[in-house]
Amino acid sequence: MKKIQEKFEYEVYDSVNELTESDAWLLNEARDVTQSAYAPYSHFQVGAVAKMANGQIVAGSNQENASFPVGLCAERVLLASAGSLYPKVPIETIAISYQGNNGGSDHPVAPCGICRQALHEFEERVKQPVRLVLAGMEGKIIVINGAHQLLPLAFSSKELR
Ligand SMILES: [Zn+2]
Repeated sequence: MKKIQEKFEYEVYDSVNELTESDAWLLNEARDVTQSAYAPYSHFQVGAVAKMANGQIVAGSNQENASFPVGLCAERVLLASAGSLYPKVPIETIAISYQGNNGGSDHPVAPCGICRQALHEFEERVKQPVRLVLAGMEGKIIVINGAHQLLPLAFSSKELR
């Protein structure tokens, strides 16, 4: 028997002012995009905005449904749009922000498990990691240099070959 340890590293910033101009802009866009969420059930509005490798910007927000499992997270709305509009083009960075039920939004929130799986396959598909910039409307900001780090031992297309 041997034990394997996987390392997970991310950056924490105290404010938007510490980010690069490009990341700060993207995060502010993600904060704005929370407004387009359709979240009448959870009242948890999420906005995600991607900077594509071709310079294009693609946005997504969560879209819920009275039949709850039909609803989609902002991240997967974004990935579906990006993949439809610009097939095979990598995403450099996705900024994700949210507004909570009680108006609180003071810490970063990470993608859910299904979205981690979707991000993992997107990276695999375009052969390039997706950086994530995660933050609320205020408070600390987390930057992760590759979404796959959020899903160690991921199930992937390799298993289906
Ligand atoms: Zn999700």
